[in-house]
Amino acid sequence: EQLINQIAAGEVVERPASVVKELTENALDAAAQRILIDVERGGKQRIRVQDDGHGIAVEQLALALRRHATSKIYNLDELESVSSLGFRGEALPSIAAVSRLTIASRQADSEHGHQVRAGDAPDDDQMQPKPVAHPVGTTVTVDDLFFNTPGRRKFLRTDRTELQHIQEAVRRLALSRFDVGFTLNHQGRCLLNLAPTQDESDRQQRLADLLGSEFATHSANVELEGAGMRLSGWLGLPTAARRQGDLQYFFVNGRLVRDRTAAHGIRQAYKDVLYRDHYPAYVLYLEIDPTQVDVNVHPMKHEVRFRDGRTVHGFLAQRIGEALAMLGP
Ligand code: ADP
Ligand code: MG
Repeated sequence: EQLINQIAAGEVVERPASVVKELTENALDAAAQRILIDVERGGKQRIRVQDDGHGIAVEQLALALRRHATSKIYNLDELESVSSLGFRGEALPSIAAVSRLTIASRQADSEHGHQVRAGDAPDDDQMQPKPVAHPVGTTVTVDDLFFNTPGRRKFLRTDRTELQHIQEAVRRLALSRFDVGFTLNHQGRCLLNLAPTQDESDRQQRLADLLGSEFATHSANVELEGAGMRLSGWLGLPTAARRQGDLQYFFVNGRLVRDRTAAHGIRQAYKDVLYRDHYPAYVLYLEIDPTQVDVNVHPMKHEVRFRDGRTVHGFLAQRIGEALAMLGP
């Protein structure tokens, strides 16, 4: 089973940023209001994610490191409409198989927390939770990623590059949940400190903190509705266009996705207002009936399949086009 976990890890854990993403998604699933992410050496030495969510019951602690021990899906019907981010029960065992992992957690009705260390033997039946002091919530610490899989470790880039991937992962998560606070520290230095947003000016501030003031000031907040869908977010003005398509964030029902149909629809809307070889910049949130999308096409869940791609494409192309026309040159 250790080997199975290491193989599964290849799918889930590509680099430190994937660990940050999985642990942070777990914190969000646990209804955390604030998430603190500390990394050392680009995450290669240490990744620690602490949340103030509902915690893990002591009898579930060791179980959480077991394959397919998700607490989030109870029957097949739920697969259709999952709103939680993780539901396969693979992340923790996969990460534990290729690192030294510790979980400490405490639920609100406990006097103190408990900790388990997966170490080199995540399936060890001897794993006994030890009492520790811990606030309500969960802290997962991942040390020495890929220490036991040198082949994978070799593929990691410089601390700086790995950190950039982590920053991008946190940026995406922070753009998906304005109601949650995120802090990112590297080597004890604070890189990002975002409080939960209360109002429009907070939201604008978070946008600037995450994507730069250039985009924040050269974009328009929009809310569009039609064909059973709702689109909100920020459309970059033509002046915010870029030579790279690197500022294009598109969320479907709260989940960041890459979708060619949607990207094409949006590009179509911008077609007449952009210079050649420029890409539109945008942060957009599409809300659509969950039964109209299949989010399960890829294990990393970055892709979706729309049941009716044509309607989505048409909606985006037309409504964004109209909005841009109204905003003027
Ligand atoms: P999944 O998220 O797909 O269920 P994971 O391997 O990521 O699988 O996590 C396994 C289980 O451990 C989760 O289903 C959840 O019950 C528990 N868990 C993990 N992280 C946290 C956390 N930060 N807070 C509360 N529970 C957690
Ligand atoms: Mg998970």
